[in-house]
Amino acid sequence: MSEKDRVIIFDTTLRDGEQSPGCSMHLEEKLRMAEILDQMGVDVIEAGFPIASQGDFEAVQGVAKCVKNAAVAGLCRAKASDIEASAEALKPAERKRIHTFISTSPLHMKHKLQMPPEEVLNAAVESITTARKFTDDVEWSAEDATRTEDDFLCQCVEAAIKAGARTINLPDTVGYSIPEEYAAMFTMVLNRVPNIDKAILSVHCHNDMGLAAANSLAGITAGARQAECTINGIGERAGNAAMEEIVMAMRTRQDMLPYKTGIDTTMITMASRTLSSITGFNVQPNKAIVGANAFAHESGIHQDGMLKNEKTYEIMTPASVGLRKSDLVLGKHSGRHAFKKKLAEMGYELGDNAFQDAFKRFKDLADKKKTVFDEDIIALLGDDGALNERLKFISLSVKAGSDGQSAILELEVDGAIKKTEAAGNGPVDAIFNAIRDLFPHPDTDLPLYQVHAVTGGTDAQAEVTVKLEEKGRTAMGQSADVDTMVASARAYIYALNKLLRKREKSISEPGP
Ligand SMILES: [Zn+2]
Repeated sequence: MSEKDRVIIFDTTLRDGEQSPGCSMHLEEKLRMAEILDQMGVDVIEAGFPIASQGDFEAVQGVAKCVKNAAVAGLCRAKASDIEASAEALKPAERKRIHTFISTSPLHMKHKLQMPPEEVLNAAVESITTARKFTDDVEWSAEDATRTEDDFLCQCVEAAIKAGARTINLPDTVGYSIPEEYAAMFTMVLNRVPNIDKAILSVHCHNDMGLAAANSLAGITAGARQAECTINGIGERAGNAAMEEIVMAMRTRQDMLPYKTGIDTTMITMASRTLSSITGFNVQPNKAIVGANAFAHESGIHQDGMLKNEKTYEIMTPASVGLRKSDLVLGKHSGRHAFKKKLAEMGYELGDNAFQDAFKRFKDLADKKKTVFDEDIIALLGDDGALNERLKFISLSVKAGSDGQSAILELEVDGAIKKTEAAGNGPVDAIFNAIRDLFPHPDTDLPLYQVHAVTGGTDAQAEVTVKLEEKGRTAMGQSADVDTMVASARAYIYALNKLLRKREKSISEPGP
């Protein structure tokens, strides 16, 4: 296989993915995810939209500092101020990419941009020229490409390449395309644009009709050599194409899809679980590749076949995506060494401070719980949301039972310790009333409160997910603890902290 069959994996979990309702991540969470993406062999990490907010700027800058192998990309509209902000945020990166976009479909140009086509073309060229002053690695996206007229698309692509764009992304921004049609667009552009050999074409698909991975693969078959995707398929609306689906389809069907990527597929399960734990967004059990049931065989006939030969019903092995059942069980007598070994087995490599922190949380948990399972460890690794937050949990005591329910809660609010007692319809309601009492936020609704046991047993950790909504913005918080009430308070506080950060975001431009 030659270099021409190499597909560049452009991960946008931290940008397009992070924009999806409830998936916002704070700086430490983005850095944790970026390190995993870098380790697993992602070629380009799109880290955010630097002009959107101070938080996004700092996240892109932070990722630019910590990533060792991948190129780091920042998204920009066709505006000099956006491009300058990206260039500034990307400064620490070894390899930086500026990704600029503008809509090219008649619908978007008329109603969203209110610009005639010639002006759009000029703005695209100008943005690429500006971006090239900061880096040679410039990507240009024709937003809503799949609903753009062929002639205009070709004209824009040719001009973009001439202006210095090395990657041309033709996104199915609204998830409207079907595979044959999406492939035909790439074939058309490859046949008609004279300087197309000077750029790499890229796919970027959304899953509104469940076709994101199929469309991406169709585009690659037609000649695209970069795939934009996210872990678990998170992203705007129904999500982006899932990286694990694209990568594993190519790996499993080399006969039909003879392409290679740089992805270490054995890190897929760990990346998926870490992202779920960070965002509080669990994947559906029947999700391809990473769902809890993706490799489970329950029907008797299947099990019988599997016992005779795994290939009867399994087209790829659990080990190929890093799914393994470990027999190393941890408990309160497990020391640093066993804990480190366990983490390594699960695919986690922590720095010294992060390891000490995690080990302390592990010991605290092991004191309360006989056996600490893999799921518990993932939950406790994710439970580091208290850094740099406006609200911090200090202590909680709850009265429950048939004589009424109330909560005494202590929080740190903007550095000051505050305490209150509140009643409610049930202990959880009392806790949430106490939080509202200490930090009023009257415009916020609670559309979701969910508890599930991380593992079996009455000493299982409860994993609580809370979703808050305020004026169209949503934020998820998740926490695990052997005490359901403590987990509830923490999850609510995480969600509220995220919502407060979202209030800062000024630009709601969704991007390609
Ligand atoms: Zn998108």
